[in-house]
Amino acid sequence: MREKIVAGNWKMNMDLAEAEELVTKLKLQMVKEPEATVMVAPPFTNLYPVFKALKDTPVVVAAQNMSEHESGAYTGEISAKMLKSVGVKTVILGHSERRAYYAETNELLEKKVKSAIEQDMTVIFCFGEELEDRKSEKHFELVETQLKESLFNLPKSAWEKLILAYEPVWAIGTGETASPEQAQEMHKHIRTLIEKNVGKETADKTSILYGGSVKPGNAQEIFAKEDVDGGLIGGASLKAVDFVEIVNAF
Ligand code: PGA
Repeated sequence: MREKIVAGNWKMNMDLAEAEELVTKLKLQMVKEPEATVMVAPPFTNLYPVFKALKDTPVVVAAQNMSEHESGAYTGEISAKMLKSVGVKTVILGHSERRAYYAETNELLEKKVKSAIEQDMTVIFCFGEELEDRKSEKHFELVETQLKESLFNLPKSAWEKLILAYEPVWAIGTGETASPEQAQEMHKHIRTLIEKNVGKETADKTSILYGGSVKPGNAQEIFAKEDVDGGLIGGASLKAVDFVEIVNAF
């Protein structure tokens, strides 16, 4: 049985007061032992207060990014060691917004993933095609290249700390969701690629999340698909009622 995961990516939203309010509501509204592992990824400034507020719950706190470097003269960057020092052992890497606005390449992301895993962090690795790729039917190929260039040269043991998040860029924040069938088709393709490049046991064990306009109204049918092991939720993770309903979709 693969781990089911529902992770909320708050992106650059929520100041401290708003974050505290959201977490208070989540604690009140969420069942004590949800079927899925629940994660929230606040911005850096809220990691420690959110970690403290959620300490007595099973909710995992994740960061949205980290440096590939261990320490040193990298103004504005945050290291794995710093994250761990405030209780954070999980990090989202490769989000399409980081790729698009901060020029994060497959090559850089390989370094970041390597660095995170060497420091015993769990990584939620995001990838997915743009609308143009899908229109020109290059989406399977594109996703294969992303995985090949960032993940398939890692040692097999790294996969114990890897969670994948397939996020078609055209579905992020647009209200347009991949259909459950489109998600399943791609997730199956991804699992086959892991099997070919890493091994069957790893392919069977790796959780693959879907991300892109997941909402209370569509979560259940997406999560019901065989190769979809959960979701990475952006917009709908900012409202406690919506996020809790998505968590309960399992
Ligand atoms: P969305 O974002 O749910 O707002 O589409 C998903 C994501 O970017 O992780």
